[in-house]
Amino acid sequence: CGIVGYIGPKACVPVIMEGLARLEYRGYDSAGIAVAGGLTPDGKPNPLQLRRAPGKLRNLAAILQKDPVHGTYGIGHTRWATHGRPTEENAHPHRDGTGSLVVVHNGIVENYLALKNALIAKGHKFMSETDTEIIAHVIQDELELASKGLGAPGPDSRTRATTDAPDSNESQTVLDDPNPYSLIPNPSLPLEEAVRRAVKRLTGAFAIGVLSAHEPDKLVAARMGPPAVLGIGDGEYFVASDVPGILHHTRDIYFLQDGEVATLTTSGILLTDFEGGLKPLKTQRITWDP
Ligand code: GLU
Repeated sequence: CGIVGYIGPKACVPVIMEGLARLEYRGYDSAGIAVAGGLTPDGKPNPLQLRRAPGKLRNLAAILQKDPVHGTYGIGHTRWATHGRPTEENAHPHRDGTGSLVVVHNGIVENYLALKNALIAKGHKFMSETDTEIIAHVIQDELELASKGLGAPGPDSRTRATTDAPDSNESQTVLDDPNPYSLIPNPSLPLEEAVRRAVKRLTGAFAIGVLSAHEPDKLVAARMGPPAVLGIGDGEYFVASDVPGILHHTRDIYFLQDGEVATLTTSGILLTDFEGGLKPLKTQRITWDP
């Protein structure tokens, strides 16, 4: 029920844990965090690391104290269970079948059983009782379909970004790297395009945060129903289920609209609709305090 994600130069774990604490009134059946990015003390890239705990956020904090995780981007969640008991297996983030892609989710996927059965028939194995885990597997399915040359034809966001690039405008934050996807090992389908295709297969309500170990330094968020906000800081970007989760870091907020997908990287945020069409990102300055 609470979501906080961060990408930027700082260590993301304290940012995410503090933000989740400020949102904890929203749910406390379990809590979890997935982080990656940055380097280990001996200079290797940090892998994707996941920690989850049933119960209140302090249970997750205790696990992190014993078994810390490190990274410069990540997503965290506190859960208000709707599908599946409040166990560690059902805690978010949920992984896809490869373990390299993780999803946090607020809301309910109404057609999850039909999707789950279709994916089981394709060989997918599920670890939880949640509707959320299906989202990770549908994104994986879209990535796999695309790698086989199947799946929905979709716009290539790289060409759209250059042809439809909006005018520079002080409240607009867009990717400024001319080749923002240069880090992606399989550029045939960027993660955000897989998310756009996946969310079109879901019915119900969702605010989601997604990251993939195969696409370093990127978070993807999408919304249909439950609230989600983006925060624009100084070279750092945030996503949260509500303003108080990030307001102590930035007051420049964009309220994600239904049918929008945001791609957060270290160089900015790219906003599109579910079809991949670019949308302007006009932030508001929040003057109130929670
Ligand atoms: N339906 C999901 C679950 O039960 C998400 C719950 C939430 O909004 O926290 O895990």
